[in-house]
Amino acid sequence: MCGIVGYVGPRQATSILVDGLRRMEYRGYDSAGIAVINGTGVKIRKAAGKLSALVDKLKTETPDGTIGVGHTRWATHGAPTTPNAHPHLDQTGRIAVIHNGIIENAGTIRKALQMRGHNFKSETDTEVLAHLIGEYDTDNLEEAVASALWDVEGAYGIAVICSEEPGTVVAARNGSPLLIGVGDGEYFVASDASAILEHTRSVVYLDDGEMAVLKRDGYRVRNLTETHVEKPVNQIEWDLATIERGGYDHFMLKEIFEQPESLHNTLRGHLLEDEGTARLRGLNLSDDELKRFDRIIITACGTSWHAALIGEYMIEEMARVPVEVEYASEFRYRNPVLDDRCLVIAISQSGETADTLAAVREAKRRGARAVGLVNVVGSTIAREVDGGLYLRAGAEIGVASTKAFNSQVGALAMVSLRLARLKNLSVLQGRDFIRALNRLPDQIKQILDRAPEIERLATKYHKAGNCLYLGRGVNFPVALEGALKLKEISYIHAEGYPAAEMKHGPIALIDENMPVVFIAPKDAVYSKIVSNVEEVKARKGRVIALVTEGDVEIAKLAEDTFTLPQTHDLLTPILASVPLQLFSYYVAVLRGCNVDQPRNLAKSVTVE
Ligand code: GLU
Repeated sequence: MCGIVGYVGPRQATSILVDGLRRMEYRGYDSAGIAVINGTGVKIRKAAGKLSALVDKLKTETPDGTIGVGHTRWATHGAPTTPNAHPHLDQTGRIAVIHNGIIENAGTIRKALQMRGHNFKSETDTEVLAHLIGEYDTDNLEEAVASALWDVEGAYGIAVICSEEPGTVVAARNGSPLLIGVGDGEYFVASDASAILEHTRSVVYLDDGEMAVLKRDGYRVRNLTETHVEKPVNQIEWDLATIERGGYDHFMLKEIFEQPESLHNTLRGHLLEDEGTARLRGLNLSDDELKRFDRIIITACGTSWHAALIGEYMIEEMARVPVEVEYASEFRYRNPVLDDRCLVIAISQSGETADTLAAVREAKRRGARAVGLVNVVGSTIAREVDGGLYLRAGAEIGVASTKAFNSQVGALAMVSLRLARLKNLSVLQGRDFIRALNRLPDQIKQILDRAPEIERLATKYHKAGNCLYLGRGVNFPVALEGALKLKEISYIHAEGYPAAEMKHGPIALIDENMPVVFIAPKDAVYSKIVSNVEEVKARKGRVIALVTEGDVEIAKLAEDTFTLPQTHDLLTPILASVPLQLFSYYVAVLRGCNVDQPRNLAKSVTVE
C-alpha cells in the first residue's frame, strides 16, 4: 500500500533510496527504512515516524553500497514501530525484503516456520515472507523468491536483496503496483513512478504474477513459471504532481477509483463462505461474549457517522440487536446509559478523531466494551480500544472521505453478519450475503466505468444553489452522505432526508430549480419511494434517481437516472454512494473548487 524503491547501479544507493522515499511521502506512511549491501553484508536502517527520523539516523552512519531497497510503510500487521518497519531480514540475516500489501496466510506460515525453529523480530506479515524466502534460498535468490511466492496468498509488491548476490534486486507484483526504471547502466524498481522520475523516464510496468530480476548489466521480467516474459518499455510523459496522483487530477478521484481494491482489501481474509459467516478475530470477543450484548452503540463523526447509521440498519435487520448511533461529540458529554452488556463500536478513518477518542474513553470508563473500526494502524483509537477491525483501505489523502466510507460500511456488514450468524441468520442466508459482498468490488468497477454518465449529470446541474438528497431505510444515510459530500467540496447547500420526511418540511423548498437526488433501488420500500418521486415531480422538482438496473417505472418519472447493479438490499449503500461521490467531485471541479483541500476542512479532526 505504501512506498517501494530499489536501486542497482554504479552510484551510492542510500541517497537515491531516501530521495525516492521522499517523493512518495505524499502517499501517507508511518515509518521508513532502507537496506544496502556492501562487502560486509546487509546494512539496515529504519525508524518509526517521518522520513526525517530515518534521515537523522543516517546522518550518524550512512551505509555504503551501490545496491539497496527502501520502503515507507503503511502498517497493516502490527503497530508502526521501528521493529515493524521494513526492510525485514530472513532468519540468517542475508536476505532483506520490503513489501507493500498484505500476505493473507502469513499467520499459518509463521506457525509452520516457528515449528521449524524460526524466531521473528516483528509482528509483520512481511517478515514471515522474508523467512520463507530464506528457507528456499540455496544459492539462487530469484528461484528462492519464486518458490516462496507459490506458497503465499494475498497482495504484494516486493523487492528483495541478498548479501550473497550483491548485484541483484528481485521484485515481484501481485495486486500491488510495481514498475522497473530503466536507466543508463542502472536499474530501479518502484511502486510509484514519482520515486525514480528524476533518474529515468523509461519504465516497464509489471503485471500481477510477474517478477523482475535487476542486475548491473540489465534486467529481465519473468513470472512464476517462465523465466522470460517480453515487456514493452514505456516513456513517462507526466509531470511529478500528476504521477503522485496516479494520473488522476485529484486524490479524491484517485481514491474513488481505488474502491474496488480498497473494499476488497477490507473484506479479504474475513469471509468464510462455507460457514456463511465472518471471522473477526481482531474484535477480541468470543462468540459467548458477542451473544451476551443486548445493545450496541455506534459512535462516530461526519462521514463515519453516516456509515454508522447504515450499520444500525444492518445489525438490527440481520442480528436483531438494538443499535443506537451517537455523534461522538454528543456521547462524550451526555450521561449515556452503559453497562457491560453494551458494546460500543467507534468508527474513525484516521483513528485520531478527538471526539471519537474521547467517546471511547468514556465508554470504557463506564464499563462498556469498546471496539474500533479504524483505517490507520497503530492510531490512538486503535491502541485504546479493546479490539477492532482495520479497514485496510490504504492511505486516504483527499479531505472528503470516499474509499474509507465504503470500507467502514463493508466492515460493519461483516460485524452484522458475525452477530447475525450467532443469533438467527441461517447458513444459507449468510452465504448469500457473502456472495453479494464478494461481488461488490466488481460492481463498483462497473459503476466507475460509467463515470462519464455522472460527469454529464454534473455538467447539467453544477450551477444549482441547493440540492436535496432523499432515500428510505438503509439508503437514508446514503442521502445524508451524498449531501455531505456535495456541500463539503462544492459548497452547494445540500440536505439529506428520509424520503417520506420531505413532506414534513423540506417540500416547501421544491421548485423548478431544485435538483432532488433519489436513492431509489428496487427494494422493499420501492413503491413508497415511487410515491415520493411523484410528490417532487408534482412540484416541478428536477429528479435525478439512482435506480436498480432494469427499473422502468422511476425512469419514466425522473429527469435523469443512473442505474445500479443488483445487490443485497442492505448492501445498496456501498454501490449507491459511488455515483454520488463522483457527482460531488465533478460538480466541485466544474465550480472551480479545491477538491482535495476544501475550505475550512481538515483531514483528521484532532480538536473537539
Ligand atoms: N503488511 C505489511 C506491514 O504491515 C506492509 C504494509 C504496507 O503496505 O506498507 O508491514
